[in-house]
Amino acid sequence: MNKRVEPPRLGEPYLLTPGPLTTSFKVKQAMLRDWGSWDADFRQMTAELRARLVAMLGDGGEAYDCVPLQGSGTFIVEAMLGSLVPRNGKVLVLANGAYGKRAAHTLACLGRKYVLLDKGDYLPPRGVEVAEALAADDKITHVVAIHCETSSGILNPLAEISEATYAFGRKLLIDSMSAFGAIPVEPAKIRFEALVSSANKCIEGVPGFGFALVRRSELEEASGNSHSLSLDLHAQWRHMNETGQWRFTPPTHVVSAFLQALTEHREEGGVAARGARYARNRDLLVTGMRGLGFETLLNERWLSPIIVTFFSPADPAFSFDRFYDLMKARGFIIYPGKLTVVESFRIGCIGQMDEAVMHEVVRAARACLDEMGVGSAAPSDTALEERARLGAA
Ligand SMILES: *Cc1c(COP(=O)(O)O)cnc(C)c1O
Repeated sequence: MNKRVEPPRLGEPYLLTPGPLTTSFKVKQAMLRDWGSWDADFRQMTAELRARLVAMLGDGGEAYDCVPLQGSGTFIVEAMLGSLVPRNGKVLVLANGAYGKRAAHTLACLGRKYVLLDKGDYLPPRGVEVAEALAADDKITHVVAIHCETSSGILNPLAEISEATYAFGRKLLIDSMSAFGAIPVEPAKIRFEALVSSANKCIEGVPGFGFALVRRSELEEASGNSHSLSLDLHAQWRHMNETGQWRFTPPTHVVSAFLQALTEHREEGGVAARGARYARNRDLLVTGMRGLGFETLLNERWLSPIIVTFFSPADPAFSFDRFYDLMKARGFIIYPGKLTVVESFRIGCIGQMDEAVMHEVVRAARACLDEMGVGSAAPSDTALEERARLGAA
């Protein structure tokens, strides 16, 4: 049933990073042609991309429209916040890592009022905490949640966050950048006004644009909200609906690659099958790395199938830079940590990889430890105490 993933054919290393990530050969091949952005063929490609992303929402998706926008993921987050939060609005930002903090920083740049609920690196914001914050401040109009906080890999409990938000009559905006396409966000089950993601995460395309899935009634009301000419979702949406074209030069090759990635996503079995493959990758990786003595930052309960953070070994013979170089020499690009307190590194589970690849990743990690003369991959007592103190819940 499961389509085999393809190893990179061009001799390049696997990207164990949460986007850009390892894409299929056909996705790369789909970029070997030039497209006229005004031409009917490309307009048809844009229409298909939008329709297929809306369909990926599942039940309840009919009320939403898709607005793609040029740029990296941060651009579409900024566009969502600037276009959908009115200038006199106020946002509750739920943070437990770098991307939540970036959303708050973005609101500061946009001159929108916000309050920050910061849970640190280990724990998710819970529904009861959201309810408390909303009960305490009736000026808050919107809640912003990060679906998978990619800086630690924590999977935040969207359903209870959504329930609390709407129990107080507020609106939920979701950064589902690193989760959409692998973890379901069905509007019939989880209420929200908008979510954003990008081409180079779980759909396995290449970088170049992001997209927002927005309740149509919110788009209709968003006229004039935006601070920005080019990051205005309402203007992009209206222009696309009227002309079939992007407002400014679209990343044509990236769109073509993305359509191939969407086809492969469907052939694999859609969101459920994609998520299941990533979860198998994660399980094999975590079991294998624990077998070498490594420990995960997060408790089992919050580990996402997207990316896993491991503590760096306490053994003085371990150096992350050396480990990185040795892993790269074996064909694997890993990711540095993005935590505030303890030393860590991350390994992504997404992209054209399966359990056979993850098995090789663990073997490579063992060989690298041996080469560095690291006897044990166990983290420091300080790291474990931190985890016990801050991660208990
Ligand atoms: C990747 C990502 C982003 C966007 O980052 P860019 O570097 O701008 O593409 C935003 N939020 C989350 C949760 C992400 O994983």
